[in-house]
Amino acid sequence: MRTVLVTGGAGFIGSHFTKRLLRSEDVAAVTVLDALTYAGHIENLGEAFLDPKLDFVEGNILDTELVNDLVTRHNHIVHFAAESHVDRSFYEAGNFLTTNVLGTRTLLDAASRLGVDKFVHVSTDEVYGPLLTGMADESAPLRPSIPYAASKAASDLVALSYFQTYGVPVCITRSSNNYGPCQHPEKIIPLFVTRLLKGEPVTLHGCGQHIRNWLHVEDNCAGIELVLRAGVPGEVYNIAGGTDLTNKELTQHILRVCDADWTAVAYVPDRQANDLRYAMDCSKITRELGYQPTRALNEGLEATADWYRANPGRWAPLLRNPQTRIPQVRVPAPEGA
Ligand code: NAD
Repeated sequence: MRTVLVTGGAGFIGSHFTKRLLRSEDVAAVTVLDALTYAGHIENLGEAFLDPKLDFVEGNILDTELVNDLVTRHNHIVHFAAESHVDRSFYEAGNFLTTNVLGTRTLLDAASRLGVDKFVHVSTDEVYGPLLTGMADESAPLRPSIPYAASKAASDLVALSYFQTYGVPVCITRSSNNYGPCQHPEKIIPLFVTRLLKGEPVTLHGCGQHIRNWLHVEDNCAGIELVLRAGVPGEVYNIAGGTDLTNKELTQHILRVCDADWTAVAYVPDRQANDLRYAMDCSKITRELGYQPTRALNEGLEATADWYRANPGRWAPLLRNPQTRIPQVRVPAPEGA
């Protein structure tokens, strides 16, 4: 039977994944390790929080003693915990490097010393950097251009080095942009949905021409579970949904599901760094593990908007939380520059 340590399981994707694992008969126990930063909420786990198979530990992935103790008691690790918000990484890159790189290393050290059957490191398409044409498969070079993506690329490389050097059975998943219920309203889809539901305007960066692929969170979790069960150690698996959209096209979809129109949209100057296009070739996980995304964007977005409509008590307090606000400051140039 599997015992699984899920880091970041009170966050958006980690909580969906934890609920999914708890429904599996061959999973005997799941422990969530989560520091409950501004992005982590026990409420995301819903009724699963009371499941006797679930143990919730509030703690930091940088806490070596705690991590060692938890890794001793589990034979699988699925590692979601991270600083995940791109805009935030522009002004607190240090936190991103500490949590995403050094935190990952703490877990890998424990896995290497104590032994695990599988270590799934959850990463992002942003590590490949912007692509003007074509698609990145898993062997494409990593060319991150923003601090969040650089911290994830660094953690990917550290994870792969622990496979090569110490034989830790690491698999990496790299997914495109996730959406679905329980996402923090700092990210574009819930940000736009919640603003429109409140009758407030939304703002598009630049001309809204940036292209992203959209993946329903449950589809990503299905892919991650396949990798947990059958992924080959040392391998990377890209996971994407079926829909590439410019932000302007995405906004059109969001306006529709929120019964709003373009009078609610304003254009603002582009942010200080904004990759024009991400695109991944995901044929490997389909070919080797039988993965297929199943949620059409239209239905997924409608269900997501319905969730935000039905649960204002879950997101309105987050918008009021001062920790959620991102100061509009630019990182100062290094001294002497
Ligand atoms: P999230 O911000 O919603 O959740 C992150 C969770 O990690 C939170 O619960 C937070 O409390 C916890 N955490 C942060 N620092 C911690 C620490 N030091 N110790 C313990 N817990 C800590 O993020 P998400 O959107 O659910 O993303 C999860 C993972 O998936 C991340 O690794 C992210 O890079 C990756 N990813 C996300 C997306 C996306 O579209 N959201 C896409 C690709 C990859």
